[in-house]
Amino acid sequence: MKRIQRLLQRAAKAPLYRKKFAGLKPRAVRDLRSFSATIPPTRLEELAAEKLKGAASLSPRLCVGRGPRAIFQLEYDTQPALYLALDRADLRGYAQVLAHCWSLVGLRKGDRVAIFDYGTSPLSYLAASSFTPYLDRGTADLLGCLPVCNDGVANMSPRAVEILRYVRPRVFFIRHDCLHALTMEVERQALRLADYTQALVAAENESLLSDEERRSFEKRLGVPIYRLLRIDAAMFLAMECPRCRLLHCRRDAYFVETLAEGDGAAENPLVVTNWFAGTSPTVRYLSQVRGSIEPSGCPSGPKDLRIAV
Ligand SMILES: [Zn+2]
Repeated sequence: MKRIQRLLQRAAKAPLYRKKFAGLKPRAVRDLRSFSATIPPTRLEELAAEKLKGAASLSPRLCVGRGPRAIFQLEYDTQPALYLALDRADLRGYAQVLAHCWSLVGLRKGDRVAIFDYGTSPLSYLAASSFTPYLDRGTADLLGCLPVCNDGVANMSPRAVEILRYVRPRVFFIRHDCLHALTMEVERQALRLADYTQALVAAENESLLSDEERRSFEKRLGVPIYRLLRIDAAMFLAMECPRCRLLHCRRDAYFVETLAEGDGAAENPLVVTNWFAGTSPTVRYLSQVRGSIEPSGCPSGPKDLRIAV
């Protein structure tokens, strides 16, 4: 309850929510159930429409009085472009969430990690304090890992392969749209990828590799591929667990629901509330990803929220 109150207090300082929640009676929100029933979800299109109206402001979710330290353009095809503003505490919380993802795929102190992704992807900018100003401890710093980054464009695949051969990262993070080009390059060089890395993690904003695509790439590359779900507008990261194969995320960082659309589908759009985002509060963000919430209890993270997608 304290968490909900704190979140709503912060949200009242952001133009979008101030307008949206104007008629809301704070007393109506007593618990998570009434929170879901009372607070309307927010769609990406709404963020873009609000940004268009208030063209002078950086973001309709930016809290008045919070000076952001780092600003990233979000990877969505909206007009106008949307930005995410973060301060030191936001960056800290976000990097801790990514550390949870890294730990779940077995990354430990001393491990080398390679990232083949854009600089505007949280997988890249949260990885190390040396990459991002005001990020006091990046994910690699928290876990004692050694990160290497490569630009996330497909024609950088030959260099990504050089990194694999030279760095031999334990885990290789890659964005979906580079996976095909990397696979072609590995095949062209007739490499046995398992000699250089133990696993690939494929990620994309608000999208997941299908099971069929995953199996096909695993067959061609000869290493397991795990999926990482990014919902960047909500500063959300969830990692596919090698043990249970569901997506895990930290319960103290997020509240995740699904929005039933009345068509009886087993999987519905995921709605994410972020507890740590202070500068750009995220209150019931309605994502484009469909899934279902599964009970907790995996031995690899007994308290984690689990999502099937
Ligand atoms: Zn699990």
